[in-house]
Amino acid sequence: MPELPEVETIRRSLEPYLVGQEITAVQVFRPRQLKNVTPAELNRRLVGRRIAELGRRGKYLLVNLEGGEVLVVHLRMTGRLLFYPQGAAVTPYTRLLMALTPPAQLHLHDVRSFAMVFLTTSEALPSLPGLVSLGPEPLGPAFTPQGLGKALAKHRGPIKNVLLAQRVVAGLGNIYADEALFRAGISPLRPADTLTAEEVARLFTGIRAVLQEAVAAGGTSIRDYVNGQGAPGAFQRQLAVYGRKGEPCRRCGTLLMGERLAGRSTVFCPKCQL
Ligand SMILES: [Zn+2]
Repeated sequence: MPELPEVETIRRSLEPYLVGQEITAVQVFRPRQLKNVTPAELNRRLVGRRIAELGRRGKYLLVNLEGGEVLVVHLRMTGRLLFYPQGAAVTPYTRLLMALTPPAQLHLHDVRSFAMVFLTTSEALPSLPGLVSLGPEPLGPAFTPQGLGKALAKHRGPIKNVLLAQRVVAGLGNIYADEALFRAGISPLRPADTLTAEEVARLFTGIRAVLQEAVAAGGTSIRDYVNGQGAPGAFQRQLAVYGRKGEPCRRCGTLLMGERLAGRSTVFCPKCQL
């Protein structure tokens, strides 16, 4: 599933091509992926509008249009947003097609059809279900060690689960939660409210560092993720723990352990992470 670095990479890879494009037609092939709008309403509100800018909140991509409409896309498991400057044929997995200034097109390609599309306005965006309860952006000024410590003190569950829930901090999924906890030297099983101030500070630094490095590498491509031009990321080569259960820790050589937490596979070093 694309996490913050992958969605940010998609945003950056699409923005130079999409800004200024006029939406000339919208075709919906899988209406149930539209969560709060009908295909007819989507057409009525989008066609004739120009794309003003691309934004991101947590794992949500925001297509801001002139006039205040905002198309919100969450790619979930296998969704891809792909820009075709010369257009492209529809495939069995094309779920949504936006015709832009001819002949350009933007396709939502999604094998498993779990991606979600919402239409809202810039004013109503903060109250959109899914966005309303999101914690601060980890790479923005609202995310601080003090705020992180206060938020974690309210949760008794394992720190890994709290990070995945998006309320304390937005944008982390299974890969970057495991990587940030490894960097911080904190076991994913630790109850969130038992972290010391020093551990919170290490976690804050670990979250920021791993996300910044992953954005710089264009994200992590393990199964489905590619950017808006169809190119994979490179951060999979730098992963310390994710996907490495049973392999030696890169820091101490101990074999990495696996656990299931919140239904997700979790990998950590039993010696480096306490
Ligand atoms: Zn280790």
